[in-house]
Amino acid sequence: MDLTKTDIRELSQPEIEAFLVGMGEKKFRAAQVMEWIWKKGASSFDNMSNLPKPLRDKLSDNFRFGNVECVYSVASVDGTRKFLFETCDSHRFEGVLIPSGDRVTACISTQIGCQMGCAFCATGQLGFKRNLTSGEMFHQVFSLDRLSSEIFGTPLSNIVIMGMGEPLMNYENTLTAIGNICSEKSMGMSPQRITMSTCGIAPQIKRLADDGIRFNLSISLHSAIDSKRNEIMPINRKYNLAELSEAIRYFHEKTGTRITYEYLMLGGINDSLDDARALTEFTKVSPCKINLIEYNPHPDDRFRKSGKVELENFIKHIESRNVVVTIRKSKGSDIAAACGQLANMKK
Ligand code: SF4
Repeated sequence: MDLTKTDIRELSQPEIEAFLVGMGEKKFRAAQVMEWIWKKGASSFDNMSNLPKPLRDKLSDNFRFGNVECVYSVASVDGTRKFLFETCDSHRFEGVLIPSGDRVTACISTQIGCQMGCAFCATGQLGFKRNLTSGEMFHQVFSLDRLSSEIFGTPLSNIVIMGMGEPLMNYENTLTAIGNICSEKSMGMSPQRITMSTCGIAPQIKRLADDGIRFNLSISLHSAIDSKRNEIMPINRKYNLAELSEAIRYFHEKTGTRITYEYLMLGGINDSLDDARALTEFTKVSPCKINLIEYNPHPDDRFRKSGKVELENFIKHIESRNVVVTIRKSKGSDIAAACGQLANMKK
């Protein structure tokens, strides 16, 4: 594949129109091309069967499809499926399907690797290769949607942007991809069924508010004590809890949206009553929900899961402050304990 060519998924309809008209083609062909790309999920110009062959040749002489190909998958006993995708330039990243009742949630990646270096995260240890393009993200979602229909007999019901990478470090591409996923001319998914998770890039959280986003936002908090958060999430040294809190206040004021906090229960690190008090104090800034996540230790790990008693006391404290709290069991723990491990394993 000629990687110097522009990915057709990066072009807007007016840009495709301009190209086609410049090539002596009719303007309406652009709408047909757009429908193939976004509605029918074409992954090659050969798929575009209602376009004349000479037109398809012109398109493929000038553009390419920046596809992502599923090269490996693994199934968990709990039904979770992890997929390893490969880009045209041979980078690998993961996407996951998580079935629950009659719903299937896709967990998607936005970057190949990650720069954020969170201590508990396998992806963070992989280092950073590059951002996924909006076209690659769209193709990842479209592929997972098809896989969901094939495997579970139902299309995707929800998307969580919690896979490899920090979405707010790939802001434009991620928002463009979400825009395409939600467009009526494409998959038409409601933004309310999409949740983006961030480790807390404070200025970009304000930017989301200014951009009037309509999807859900979740903050990977994991500690509400600066000294501890600095240790497990280096981003906190750049944007500390006070700055994060201010960004969340701004976000809620502008969007009226309830924030979700993700909190990984790390035994002996962030699971004491003092940690719980700091957490409920921090989350007062706006209406919220807290998801406590059970940690899955993996080999060579310096972290461990919280004990039953610590977990119960932690929950009791949060409930005593009338904050909604749920416990999320990590799914797919038998196939890869943490995000990024599949990519690591197959490297
Ligand atoms: S938890 Fe998220 S932000 Fe932190 S290193 Fe892992 S992928 Fe990056």
